[in-house]
Amino acid sequence: TLPAVRAITADKRDVLRDVFGYDNFRPGQEEIIDTLIGGKSVLAVMPTGAGKSLCFQVPALAMDGLSIVISPLVALMQDQVAALKLAGVAAEAIHSAQDREANVSAWQRVASGETRILYMAPERLMTERMLDALSRFEISLFAIDEAHCMSKWGPSFRPEYAQLGVLAQRFPGIPIAAMTATADEATRRDIELQLFDGTHRTFVSGFDRPNITLNVAVKQRWKDQLLDYLDAHRGENGIIYCLSRKKCEEVAEMLSGEGFDAIAYHAGLDKDDRSARQNRFVTESGVVMCATIAFGMGIDKPDVRFVFHTDLPGSIEAYYQEIGRAGRDGDPADAHMLFGPGDIRLRRQFIEQEDSEDDHKRREISRLNSLISYAEAQGCRRQTLLSYFGETTEPCGNCDNCKSPVTLKDGSEEANLVISAILETGEIYGQAHIIDVVRGAETEKVLKAKHDRLHCHGTGSSISRPQWQSIVRQMVAAGLVEIDIAGYSSLRLTDKGNAFTRGDGAFNYREEEPRLRRKTTSDSG
Ligand code: ADP
Ligand code: ZN
Repeated sequence: TLPAVRAITADKRDVLRDVFGYDNFRPGQEEIIDTLIGGKSVLAVMPTGAGKSLCFQVPALAMDGLSIVISPLVALMQDQVAALKLAGVAAEAIHSAQDREANVSAWQRVASGETRILYMAPERLMTERMLDALSRFEISLFAIDEAHCMSKWGPSFRPEYAQLGVLAQRFPGIPIAAMTATADEATRRDIELQLFDGTHRTFVSGFDRPNITLNVAVKQRWKDQLLDYLDAHRGENGIIYCLSRKKCEEVAEMLSGEGFDAIAYHAGLDKDDRSARQNRFVTESGVVMCATIAFGMGIDKPDVRFVFHTDLPGSIEAYYQEIGRAGRDGDPADAHMLFGPGDIRLRRQFIEQEDSEDDHKRREISRLNSLISYAEAQGCRRQTLLSYFGETTEPCGNCDNCKSPVTLKDGSEEANLVISAILETGEIYGQAHIIDVVRGAETEKVLKAKHDRLHCHGTGSSISRPQWQSIVRQMVAAGLVEIDIAGYSSLRLTDKGNAFTRGDGAFNYREEEPRLRRKTTSDSG
């Protein structure tokens, strides 16, 4: 048989967004997806939680034809098929936990050509009858989940998996995706030997980029902060990410005035201009690119020395992807991010105003919260970042918190004041009002609601407003209180917060950093 011609019928990014509701690929996913769509087989070793399923589901849906997923666990198959169906994908499973009738009708749908992804246990697939039947279909992809089960070297060898080795001969030219979270060198070799006939690529992703120093600072006068930073990075290739097109232009202009070779890049520029600017950045040295998120995809410049975020990115995935453009050559590089309460408010508004399902919004909020927890991290930032992607590590020694450990203050008293104010006002007010109450302000809103008569009113007047804002942020990051997006961003107590009021758990906070030295330009937001 000739290798099947696989037609690409959808863009991988459209599939990611329309079917799965995500805007960005996670680290590692895109390369694997591209390789499979390009018709090559893949062995991917990715940590649990890294998002392996998407690596074969996206190509399956981007290419014409039927994709077969081999999975050892019925429960896993059922979960995935149910989730896919919910997302509107024609997916089926054939396995022994399903009665004959259900299997027959699943097969009928497959036979009619409507099914895009078919999940099967290996022993079902590896019958002569099934292989023969499938050879009459246009198969776009085989995906083998938990591929380490193929190897006798591994701890979870399954004899049914051993036969999968014939796939490459039976279906020449069809890419095979072997996915696993746990494969040491010997196991990997073994899987490759059994599965792959022609060319293939192996991806082993740990998420750590140890040469990138991680820094986060509270946004004060951001222009001064940026200039101070750049003073120490003159002549280096760098990217400065800004939220808006206008800000990119403004920053590029300001930096040019300060003698930097700075250019702006955003989607508002016409195509030729964009590629000319991108080309300058890639080919010349010492260029500082002031860009929106429109910049970066597919840019391979190994010696980018820093990535500076003047604003909070949209999610922890986006952040990781953006800082990952620094230090590809393995030499020391630097990531520096500014964030403040305004950023968080803005990002929440973006999500609230999005025209999307509540479920999607909730997921976006939780991703944003993970980024805030990272920004507010009191310990090693790399640990926080990697733990989001399912990896555990020792403190890295190469982030701001490792280099100069933050001194924490016991904040039980402060946290209790905030919690009292939230509870006494009925859990329906946002941060600004809660802080007004705690600080004893007599705003119209406070007086109208008679919150000046509350027990907690004014109990925290000795602490400044910015410090309170920071405390509340850190309480959110610590999970004591949460922001209700459905309810006008009101603060609510969480279960953890409830436990805290009963004396369960502690709350420590970082005191607001002192103001910066530079005083020449003013903060324009
Ligand atoms: P694994 O099989 O590697 O353990 P999963 O495929 O179950 O991981 O994915 C783990 C979680 O990550 C899932 O909730 C999935 O929806 C989510 N996820 C995967 N890819 C992305 C992405 N690009 N953006 C956001 N979330 C993602
Ligand atoms: Zn660290």
